[in-house]
Amino acid sequence: MLTLRGHHLICLHFFSGEGYDAQFIENLRDVLKRVESEEIEIVSGDDGICAECIYLKDRKCMHDENADEGIREMDNTALKLLNLRAGQKITWQDLKNLIPNIFLQWHDRYCNECDWKHACEKSDLYQEMKRR
Ligand code: SF4
Repeated sequence: MLTLRGHHLICLHFFSGEGYDAQFIENLRDVLKRVESEEIEIVSGDDGICAECIYLKDRKCMHDENADEGIREMDNTALKLLNLRAGQKITWQDLKNLIPNIFLQWHDRYCNECDWKHACEKSDLYQEMKRR
């Protein structure tokens, strides 16, 4: 089953073709295709996106020294904002409907400090959410 962790339930909506390497990007595109027809299982920790990430080692994010802890904190915040929890299943459409309600809180807390902000800003949906 397709699995997504907390922060990916939000950030994936704004993918604009960039990523760590070609394999990671190809997998993201594949995940985005699959979400249209498959249910998503929400997980705690590494998911179907992390699976192809060069920084995943022993099921932990090794992007930098404190990355795994920081990412888990983002996951927890995302789940709280979305009122979801690990173990639940959700459709992409239901998830899409939740994003407008929580986006500005998410944006104010995380986006300005995020390495991928330049990429998300290319997304029409991201721009639309910012204007709301
Ligand atoms: S800028 Fe970063 S935190 Fe904000 S939605 Fe994009 S990937 Fe997520």
